[in-house]
Amino acid sequence: MIPDSFKQDLLNRVDIVEVVGRYVQLRKAGANYSGLCPFHNEKTPSFTVSPAKQFYHCFGCQKHGNAIGFLMDYGGMGYVDAMKELAASVGMQVPAQQPRTPQEAQQKAHEGGLAALLEKAMAFYRAELKRSPPAIAYLKKRGLSGEIAARFGIGYAPDDWQALKAAFPDYDDARLVECGLVIQGEEGKRYDRFRGRIMFPIFNRRDAVVGFGGRVIGEGEPKYLNSPETPLFHKGEEIYGLGHARAAMHEARRALVVEGYMDVVALAQHGVGYAVATLGTATTPVHVTRLLRELRENGAELVFCFDGDAAGRKAAWRALEVSLPLATDTNPIRFMFLPEGEDPDTFVRQHGRQGFESLIGEAQTLTGYLLGELRARSDLSTAEGRARFQVNAKPLVQQLAAPVLRMQLVRALAPLAQIAPDYAESYFAVEAAPAAAPRKAGAPRTAAAVPRTEEQHLLRCVVANPALAQELEDELLDPGMPEAGALRAIAADLAGHEAPSGGMLVDRFNGSEYEQIVFRAQASALETNLDADSAAHEFRQAQLALRVRRKHREIESLKGQLGANPALNVQLDRLVKELHQLKAQRS
Ligand SMILES: [Zn+2]
Repeated sequence: MIPDSFKQDLLNRVDIVEVVGRYVQLRKAGANYSGLCPFHNEKTPSFTVSPAKQFYHCFGCQKHGNAIGFLMDYGGMGYVDAMKELAASVGMQVPAQQPRTPQEAQQKAHEGGLAALLEKAMAFYRAELKRSPPAIAYLKKRGLSGEIAARFGIGYAPDDWQALKAAFPDYDDARLVECGLVIQGEEGKRYDRFRGRIMFPIFNRRDAVVGFGGRVIGEGEPKYLNSPETPLFHKGEEIYGLGHARAAMHEARRALVVEGYMDVVALAQHGVGYAVATLGTATTPVHVTRLLRELRENGAELVFCFDGDAAGRKAAWRALEVSLPLATDTNPIRFMFLPEGEDPDTFVRQHGRQGFESLIGEAQTLTGYLLGELRARSDLSTAEGRARFQVNAKPLVQQLAAPVLRMQLVRALAPLAQIAPDYAESYFAVEAAPAAAPRKAGAPRTAAAVPRTEEQHLLRCVVANPALAQELEDELLDPGMPEAGALRAIAADLAGHEAPSGGMLVDRFNGSEYEQIVFRAQASALETNLDADSAAHEFRQAQLALRVRRKHREIESLKGQLGANPALNVQLDRLVKELHQLKAQRS
């Protein structure tokens, strides 16, 4: 497991506003930032991010979490990958993990076993390629050299139901099914998933093979077949060829995203080494984020390459929509379209590197492509058409995260819509979010915002200012209150340690019995903009109220015994005096 001290350090260094801001357009609203919730559909922003408390909360759908949780929920990453992503963004390295439980150790060993099987299968397929003249002839016909095939680990799966038996004498091993190499038929018969196909190993970020893509030789369906989702392979997260492309990407200051692995390999063969492919999925925010991060140098560009047909146009528009909130002012995003009927493989074979790169040179900029599409959808020679153009453009312009580029786009839109630049700037401006999470006039605060018991007061103060847990007098708490347990847990964690941040508390209580209580307290602190100083004041007042409560109880209990022992009167007088002193401290 990753040590808590590292997580704390990481969450302290990461700016959650910047992390969430890569995906969601955020506006400053008082001490916090708010925007349209990416987890549910809404027209007015109820999604709030607190830089001081390092977590986000949606007052609409109650989604709640820290920077790690956001990448998991929105980016679809696993816990460790989310942490690695964050660590890389601030130049930290996640320490090697020690499995915490025997089950974890077992799981890790199991995944290691699966990876070894895939490695062995890759070696088998590569050896088979050398022994298969038809497969070699096929690759030669596509213009691929032995050197490129070796670089990408390309192999061949023989057209045989159980060819893998030669590599795996224990063909009945259940793990062969689990890692996607073998299919268990309905009548208990097992057979190879990939048969008669050119095999492209798919490597993860650590350059370990996690799956395969197979291209059928000659006719046959499907033309392309991928490994299924397995414990190792998640196709929405992987980018084919990234490891091979990295050096060329930095040299060319460009990443090119194409649709298939055959395209990547063919381009590399012709000297265009900076191409990568998504694995049969539409462009996702995870893809764009990861590639933009790879291209950190100022000015390096991300180019999407699509077929010129209707399907290609549709995929391109989808990529544009995903890119708008991720675009920056420093790394241009462009879109190129191939002539109809061509793909990168056929085009580069016919026109070579120079021809292909001159086509990249003609690629449309993000804003150019956006404007072109919008113009094509409205008749700008009529007032009605221009109105439609302006209305259609608005949500897209507002999605564009890069502020300078957005201003440029607005300047370009104004003459097309025949509106004055000043008017355009106000029309396309992103409305400032209201200062607090918005509520309809007269509507009550959410239940979370209003603390009802002193224990609820204490907990919301502690999540806003965790160091306060040191002052907690836990004998004052009513053990029947669910908040009492959470408060004790935080106080116990704190003993002798640095105060945890809000983001760390989210992590600490995820999946625990107090999860909901702590999240509610954080939401309450967020909604009322509770800062550390006000929290300290409120905390002390609540604890004072608890002391008063206890004094009242002592007095009541003493009164019950008075009849039997009048000498207790002296003690009662003292208690009442103490009660008055306590009350005098309250403000
Ligand atoms: Zn929401």
